[in-house]
Amino acid sequence: IRWTEGRGWHDAQLTPYAPLEIDPANMTLHYGQAIFEGLKAYRQADGSIATFRPEANAERFQASARRLAMPELPVEAFVEAVELLVQQDQAWVPNQAEQSLYLRPFMFATEVGLGVRPANSYIFMIIASPAGAYFPGGVKPVSVWLSEDYVRAAPGGTGAAKCAGNYAASLVAQAEAAAKGCDQVVWLDAAEHKWVEEMGGMNLYFVVGEGENATVVTPELSGALLPGITRDSLLTLAGDLGYRSEERKISTDEWKQGNADGTITEVFACGTAAVITPVGHVKSATADWTVATGEPGPITMQLREALLAVQSGHRPDTHNWLHKIV
Ligand code: PMP
Repeated sequence: IRWTEGRGWHDAQLTPYAPLEIDPANMTLHYGQAIFEGLKAYRQADGSIATFRPEANAERFQASARRLAMPELPVEAFVEAVELLVQQDQAWVPNQAEQSLYLRPFMFATEVGLGVRPANSYIFMIIASPAGAYFPGGVKPVSVWLSEDYVRAAPGGTGAAKCAGNYAASLVAQAEAAAKGCDQVVWLDAAEHKWVEEMGGMNLYFVVGEGENATVVTPELSGALLPGITRDSLLTLAGDLGYRSEERKISTDEWKQGNADGTITEVFACGTAAVITPVGHVKSATADWTVATGEPGPITMQLREALLAVQSGHRPDTHNWLHKIV
C-alpha cells in the first residue's frame, strides 16, 4: 500500500514476492525512516488459522510511525493486509506444535532526494515466512551480557519505537555479547547503567518468590524499551494463572542480590519469536552469576505452555486475543 502527500493511502496490491528497484537517492537509505512489526499466524487445534492480537501490532506500528514522522496506517488497513496475505499463504502455515507463519509488516520512505526532512511518499508492505520452533531440541536457557559500554535507548529517543535504526545500533553490542560467550545482550538505562530495560528482541520478566506466592515482575515502560505484545499478554496471563504481577523498575543490584538470597527464583525473556526463553546465566564486566539453578523454572515453563496453548487454540481464548483468518 502506498502513501503520497496530498493523496493518502492508495494502490493496495497483493503481488508475488520479488526484488524491489531502489533509487540510490531513496531517502530511507540516507536518513533511515524505516519501521517494522513482527507477528505470527498459528494453525489452530481445529485446523483453522488465526493471528494473535494483530490490532496491538497495528497500534504499535502507528506509534512507531508517529515517532519517525511517518504517516499512520489505519489499524483496519493493517489488519486487513495481514488477513489477505495469510489467506493467500495459508498452505504455508505449519501444522506442527510451536511452528507458525511469521509476518513482517514494514514501511519506508520512497521519495528520492537528499533534503533532511520527512519524506513525502512511503510504501507499506508485508512479507511472510514459515518459522520453525525456536528450540527444536527442547527449551534451553540463554546466557546474557549486561551491556555497560553501549546504550540502546535514551529518554526522548526512539527506544519505544520499532524502527530499523534501533537494531542497527544494537548489532555491535550483540557482537560484544557473543565475544564474551553470551547469547544475548541485556540493555540497561542510559543515565545510570543500573536499571534493567530489555533484551535484544525480547522483554524481561523476573519471578520473585515461589509457588502460589510468586510475583512476576517486568521492567516498567520507561519510554526507552519496546512495549512488547508478549510482555503485555503475560501480565494478564500470569493473573489468570493466579500470580501477582508488577511493572516497576528493577536494578542489576536487585537482580544480583535477589539471586544470591533466593528471592528471585526465575528469570525469562519473552517475545513473538521466542515466546518465552529462560535466562540461565548473567555476565557483566564486573559480575558473573547463574540464575537460580540455571535450569528452566516451573513458572517460566507454565507461562510458556499457557501462552502457546492460547496461540494454538488449545486453551480457551478468554481475552479475545485470537483473530481468526480462515
Ligand atoms: N523488545 C524488542 C527490542 C523487540 O524487537 C521485540 C520484538 N518485537 C520485543 C521486545 C518483544 O515484542 P513482542 O512481544 O511484541 O514480539
